[in-house]
Amino acid sequence: MNKKIIAFDADDTLWHNEPYFDEAQERFCALFQDLASSQEILGMILNHQVKNLPLYGFGIKAFTLSMIETALKLTQNNINGTGIEKIIAIGRDLLEKPVELLPNVEEVLQELHGKYKLVVATKGDLKDQHRKLHDSKLGPYFHHIEVLSDKTELDYTKMLARLECQPEDFVMIGNSLKSDVLPILNIGGTGIHIPYLTTWEYEKIDFEIEHEKFTALTDIKEVIALF
Ligand SMILES: [Mg+2]
Repeated sequence: MNKKIIAFDADDTLWHNEPYFDEAQERFCALFQDLASSQEILGMILNHQVKNLPLYGFGIKAFTLSMIETALKLTQNNINGTGIEKIIAIGRDLLEKPVELLPNVEEVLQELHGKYKLVVATKGDLKDQHRKLHDSKLGPYFHHIEVLSDKTELDYTKMLARLECQPEDFVMIGNSLKSDVLPILNIGGTGIHIPYLTTWEYEKIDFEIEHEKFTALTDIKEVIALF
């Protein structure tokens, strides 16, 4: 492929993320196991998250507020300060999780660095994503870091305008078909999917993608052979 910019998603593409959220949700479920099943509680958190997305956006702080709202609902507004404190602690712990790179990530970036403009395009909390990028020590490989409030076609179109890049010169690589691939294909770019071990419910899609500018890989190291 002859491209100008190669962009990478961050969470579950460059480093592990979703298992930390799974663990946080398990802790939350354990707090309220006398009131509802884990499955019910997880469904409630997800509902709150999706409902809150237009106002709160993505990331740990939004997730924490959605957990608190779920707890209020579960307890019929009878949760006390100590209970709220425990939920805030779950969120704070997430903000301090170590950044563990996925296998072969650094090797791929080393190979592409200098040949292409490399970009990180991620959503989530601005401060948390900058923290993770700093802790990952991957910063020097990237020409540009973009923390988006969402990954819609419009968000990507605006980002490409800022980068002065035409969609046909742009490749996005990520673990989410919904956020990293589909919107990019729809605006004329190239999308590469690398699945992660587990996918957040919200990011799942229930159809196959067939598109001339879509490539499905199984490991990030396969990216090297494409460029
Ligand atoms: Mg991701």
